[in-house]
Amino acid sequence: MEVWANRLDREFYRYQKEYEEKAVEVLRSGWYVLGKEVEAFEKEFAGYTGAAHCVGLASGLDALWLAFRALQIGSGDEVIVQANSYIACVMGITINGATPVFVEPDAFYQIDPERIEPLITERTKAVLVVHLYGQSARMDRIVEICRKHKLRLVEDCAQAHGAEFGGKQVGTFGDIGCFSFYPSKNLGAYGDGGAVITDNGELADKIRILRNYGSEKKYHNQVVGANSRLDELQAGLLRVKLGHLNEINREHQEIAEHYTRGIVNPRIQKPQTARGATSVWHQYVVRCAERDRLKAYLEAQGVKTEIHYPIPPHLSEAYRELGHHKGEFPITERLAEEVLSLPMYNGLTKEEQQYVIEAVNRYEE
Ligand SMILES: *Cc1c(COP(=O)(O)O)cnc(C)c1O
Repeated sequence: MEVWANRLDREFYRYQKEYEEKAVEVLRSGWYVLGKEVEAFEKEFAGYTGAAHCVGLASGLDALWLAFRALQIGSGDEVIVQANSYIACVMGITINGATPVFVEPDAFYQIDPERIEPLITERTKAVLVVHLYGQSARMDRIVEICRKHKLRLVEDCAQAHGAEFGGKQVGTFGDIGCFSFYPSKNLGAYGDGGAVITDNGELADKIRILRNYGSEKKYHNQVVGANSRLDELQAGLLRVKLGHLNEINREHQEIAEHYTRGIVNPRIQKPQTARGATSVWHQYVVRCAERDRLKAYLEAQGVKTEIHYPIPPHLSEAYRELGHHKGEFPITERLAEEVLSLPMYNGLTKEEQQYVIEAVNRYEE
């Protein structure tokens, strides 16, 4: 058997008719960028998350950097972010000229709340929480710390659409929640897309202006902005998918439960979920001391896997100028060598899941 690391066609075919009808409707409408589909999606996604406002954007990276731009966090400012994050999280900070201050993760691979306070200086302006692999970080403690030190709180929810902490959705704890709708995300479009959510109407208006060349009214440009508009086709397709997001997330959870029940190899460490947190299981990430051997073994068995992520941002070539070195963040660096993402996507059959479990259980040193 061959099990792919990811495939997006199965979820498409499940709701094919709805997607195709919506695509034809938008194509025939004669209106393709920032129109009624985007407006409707923004309203529906805000409603789904429980936020007051949503602004559709062109990507998750844009959501991040426009969030920090709207918060006026830039040159000379520091933003605390977990070290084992995706490179785009860090770019969202540095595009504005701010400096990322890295913090090691906890046992759930999320930002470790207990390590944040010692890093706070007079330059610290914000904490960027990345809800990695679909699980909410421990938001109770993080919100408390941000309140106490008067820090802005931005959430990167690109992998965690619908995840909760204490019954409240990610993206609604801080000032701004940032989302990506890249096709492989739980709420993925059929191209690029992103959004921010916020309860602050002023911030929403600022980002709405920034996404369209800094203008509210055509040709009246108030600030230097970006072209970061969500298009009508993606917004329409996202509206269809949003209607199925709970089903989509439930299926991810069922696959995760199946893996957790089935995998019993003592060489493999399975993921844990923190008390109060839920995960929408964007990825099912195991750990193994000889990860590369495990990956090669699974590949030989026909099971494709991915590594999220092999190079932590502080060791990335793109951030050489930050002057970090190997050994500075040992937990993060060890994770980069040990994590492995098993196949996790909608339409992954029970037989395929069983095949993955048996292949993992057969692995020996
Ligand atoms: C995908 C992702 C992003 C970037 O989203 P794009 O839409 O690809 O720009 C940012 N942060 C995290 C955690 C992601 O997984």
